[in-house]
Amino acid sequence: MNLEHLNALKQLLSTPRKIAIIPHKNPDGDAIGSTLALWHYVINKGHNASIVSPNDAPKFLKWMPGADKILNFEKKNTQAKSCIGAADVIFTLDFNHLGRVGQMSELLEESSATFVMVDHHQEPSDYAKIMYSDVTMSSTCEMVYHLIGLLGDVDQITTEMANCIYTGIMTDTGSFKFAATTSNTHRVVADLMDRGAEGTEIHHRIYDTNSPSRLHLLGCALKNMVILEEYHTAYITLSQEELDKYNYQKGDTEGFVNYGLTLDGINFAVIFIENKEEGILKISFRSVGDFSVNDFARKHFNGGGHTNAAGGKSEDSIEDTIKYFTSLLPQYQNQLQS
Ligand code: 5GP
Ligand code: MN
Repeated sequence: MNLEHLNALKQLLSTPRKIAIIPHKNPDGDAIGSTLALWHYVINKGHNASIVSPNDAPKFLKWMPGADKILNFEKKNTQAKSCIGAADVIFTLDFNHLGRVGQMSELLEESSATFVMVDHHQEPSDYAKIMYSDVTMSSTCEMVYHLIGLLGDVDQITTEMANCIYTGIMTDTGSFKFAATTSNTHRVVADLMDRGAEGTEIHHRIYDTNSPSRLHLLGCALKNMVILEEYHTAYITLSQEELDKYNYQKGDTEGFVNYGLTLDGINFAVIFIENKEEGILKISFRSVGDFSVNDFARKHFNGGGHTNAAGGKSEDSIEDTIKYFTSLLPQYQNQLQS
């Protein structure tokens, strides 16, 4: 974060403010972890703050300290609206363009609050007056840790905050294995453990609380996997019918896409998940090496993200989307080889 922006933030937070903290739609561990950690921090500093989420978080994140206080825009619409309307400072965490908050975007565009972006995705847009954008960071949670440090308050990181930050770093790094996991990430995590973060317990709560139906859905997804050796690619489809059959609950498909990358020789893994209610397929892209799924998602599927993890969508049927997807692969054959 450059000094000018840091000083502006210090100045902004030097008197009590009405703060709204916003994660992206379909919030993941990093979005919920970072918003909660920041929320605890600003509340402890004497500000008036709320987290407003565009929609609900999956159940496996609900144990996080403060999660029960998050306002779900879909369920508590009036309260959420008045909270954003009254805010003089709006933090947007773990996303960098307003399209990522779904139906809430209009409200944010109309707001006259000072926007503060904290985010690690590529190609930030310019809605925020104060920006902390760093694509080399493992997670927004790691950035919240650094931000609190830059504000001179690292000693104010409580056990609750440490647990939230640890969770987001852990989920966004695939348990500390993805390429963005640096020695500095490990130093941050070590410090969080010194401040009380309960690593083993967090792993258990996130990864070892499956329902039988989720594992059956995973079985279905793996059965549906198509391997295109020629293109070092594996993709999975899940139709609405299949999701219904296995009693799909929000968050159940989290991580499924990564199974493709566990195959020897596969560098590109994709999952297409039908959502009849929204009339779209939600797509997740993952890669290893230099092949940029951010570029691929941006160019072909109205999405974006990081070099090795991105998302997008399609308004076509599964069949047509797969046809289109496979028709794109030949032009990437060389890039997909390494
Ligand atoms: P996931 O596949 O887990 O939903 O998302 C992977 C990464 O891509 C995350 O960092 C997420 O924030 C980002 N992402 C997911 N969907 C979209 C999208 O539709 N647009 C953009 N710009 N980024 C996305
Ligand atoms: Mn993230």
